Amino acid sequence: MQKRKNVVVLGSINADIILKLKRLPKPGETMKLQGFETAGGGKGANQAIAAARSSSEVHFVGRVGADAYGKMMCDLLQKDGINIEHIKTDANNPTGQAYILLQDSGENSILVNSGANAFIQEEDVKNARYLIEKADVIVAQFEVPINRIIEAFKMARAAGVSTILNPAPATKVPDKLLELTDLITPNEVEAEMLTDIHVDNPISQRNAAKMLQAKGVKNVILTLGSEGAYYLTENNQEQAVPAFKVKAIDTTGAGDTFIGCLAAKLNPNFDNIPQAVHYANKASSLTVQKIGAIPSIPTEKEITSR
Ligand code: ADP
Repeated sequence: MQKRKNVVVLGSINADIILKLKRLPKPGETMKLQGFETAGGGKGANQAIAAARSSSEVHFVGRVGADAYGKMMCDLLQKDGINIEHIKTDANNPTGQAYILLQDSGENSILVNSGANAFIQEEDVKNARYLIEKADVIVAQFEVPINRIIEAFKMARAAGVSTILNPAPATKVPDKLLELTDLITPNEVEAEMLTDIHVDNPISQRNAAKMLQAKGVKNVILTLGSEGAYYLTENNQEQAVPAFKVKAIDTTGAGDTFIGCLAAKLNPNFDNIPQAVHYANKASSLTVQKIGAIPSIPTEKEITSR
């Protein structure tokens, strides 16, 4: 039996507001919605839930607004057993919202209002220091201020806690953050943003990973959608891991499931990267077979019974 991992997620919490439309409206046009749904989301929340459903003890550091969406999201996280003590209610900013314009064609356009996620303060990270210091791993993404990630990763490093950076959504990253990162997990778009290398074959995958290592990250896992994943470790172990052959219905949450499950299964010294990538790959192949993000994130039992 693997020891239950202690995971801290410093991340975003959003309400996803799904607006179903025939097509996008033209400028000046008023159009009726075909349907409207609200769901839980935000990369941090999704990843925390994925880790919790894979038997980790998960502690969340983040912010919501003093509104109904904030309560909805805290309830949702708590239902999966996540510690929400360090989710601060921000009196001045609303809970993050993502408006997903889902057209009949299946295409979607997304408008994000970061809200409270953008107002996580240095003090919030300091208050969670004791949690970060006793964790096995801390996971962060870019829907929260980068300076908060740097502060949290510094604390983690000083305490010998592993740091996982999911550099999503794609943006440029200061080198000082990369130097504090033990494992980075970009998809193809994010890898290109970080390295200027267009990642579309084994050679470019290796070159991008090597460049990230040269910038100071120890271990790199590229997620490659229906192609699976590729990893390059600190000891120069590398492998392309093919995706499970499944019928993908909705890939929302695939990357978040991958990262959360990886954090749940990696040993603190990362000596089991091959096994953890295999597990995360299997987990996200289950997520893509169902609609939505949080409802489609599988439990450990579902992952291991396939
Ligand atoms: P993101 O959602 O962040 O863009 P990816 O698209 O790279 O991330 O997907 C993350 C992981 O989900 C992949 O590494 C793979 O394991 C799995 N995955 C994604 N799409 C598929 C698919 N069509 N079939 C099987 N697995 C998939």
